[in-house]
Amino acid sequence: MRIAVAKEIEVCERRVALIPDTVTRLVKQGVEVWVETGAGERAFFSDAAYEAAGAKVITDTATLWGEADILLKVSPPQEREDGRSEVDLLKEGSVLISFLNPLGNPSVAGRLAERKVTAISMEMIPRTTRAQSMDALSSQASIAGYKAVLIGAAALPKYFPMLTTAAGTIAPAKVFIMGAGVAGLQAIATARRLGAIVEAFDIRPAVKEEVQSLGAKFVEVKLEEETTAAGGYAKEISEASKQRTQEVVAEHVKNADVVITTAQVPGRKAPLLVTEEMVAQMKPGSVIVDLAAEQGGNCACTDPGKDIVWNGITIIGPINLPSSLPVHASQLYSKNLSSLIQLLIKDKALNVNFADDIVDAACVTHGGEIRNQRVKDALQALSGVAS
Ligand code: NAD
Repeated sequence: MRIAVAKEIEVCERRVALIPDTVTRLVKQGVEVWVETGAGERAFFSDAAYEAAGAKVITDTATLWGEADILLKVSPPQEREDGRSEVDLLKEGSVLISFLNPLGNPSVAGRLAERKVTAISMEMIPRTTRAQSMDALSSQASIAGYKAVLIGAAALPKYFPMLTTAAGTIAPAKVFIMGAGVAGLQAIATARRLGAIVEAFDIRPAVKEEVQSLGAKFVEVKLEEETTAAGGYAKEISEASKQRTQEVVAEHVKNADVVITTAQVPGRKAPLLVTEEMVAQMKPGSVIVDLAAEQGGNCACTDPGKDIVWNGITIIGPINLPSSLPVHASQLYSKNLSSLIQLLIKDKALNVNFADDIVDAACVTHGGEIRNQRVKDALQALSGVAS
């Protein structure tokens, strides 16, 4: 069985799907590993390190993709410079494991099905205890939460910690985190370590204890509806509830030096949490870091991928933050992949077993079909818009 690691072609993608340490373990298991030349370069893993780990370094992209039983990637397949899609390079019947954004961009899943590829989407790994070691959404979101605080702290024209000095006392910065999922919790922990006073808000009341255990104050908004969906994700809330939360959070946004927004509802545009009016109420010099920028933004003023200054407030809409820490992001993602690969190998051969709940949930295409109803619906909605 041959596993291949492709070099990422997305311009801002610095991560690599497998790091040399993981290669060593797979090779010991009797798996043949191929790595495209330069695949680890932007994450500081050299071809020589992969070779030392037992991988074969391949220079011809078409050979690497076309002869892989399992092809590993970070970013979803896309069009190459020569006009060919990466999807067309895959061998029929092979397995692709990658982030695929199947709900946000279902057309890729459609093409993978046509190509008769078994596509496993890292976004679809269930958030269960057994799947924890494969949970790439968590490993990468945690990095985004950490980095968002560093970006916010660097942009703030103030200290984060309280300081008592001979030249006077500095008050600690106030940080307000909106959305206390994996990224939000890591942002709380990071802001606390830097000495800020931290408040956090989420529509799921279940996170209150986690927020408090990290030393932050939980901003509670009592809503008259269920806010948690299957799998622990948030639901999209009603207009009345949105209104109610905005009324409560406005005061906290106004008083914050740094606001970090991380709120997401899977498969939907990110909820609007910070309106233009709220931004206008903030103190000049304050900073907003909007981690939902790629999904439409939690802040009305966010411009994805840009830092803008609006009425003296800096609004930062970073894209692909995990890629900005490529060494550890790749290390964790590589571990996520190798755990998942263990489910797909039996007696040194490929064995895609849909009786396994993790494989069943994460596999979006197989045998020419899209297997996931939500992805099918998303694709149908897309073709409805196109026609
Ligand atoms: P996510 O990225 O989908 O969303 C981030 C946060 O935004 C969530 O906490 C969500 O409640 C919040 N949110 C959504 N709409 C909001 C709104 N209008 N206002 C305020 N906040 C809003 O979430 P995630 O970080 O991927 O986590 C999803 C769930 O999975 C959580 O329950 C998490 O605890 C759970 N989880 C479980 C495991 C496990 O058991 N192995 C691992 C990781 C995550």
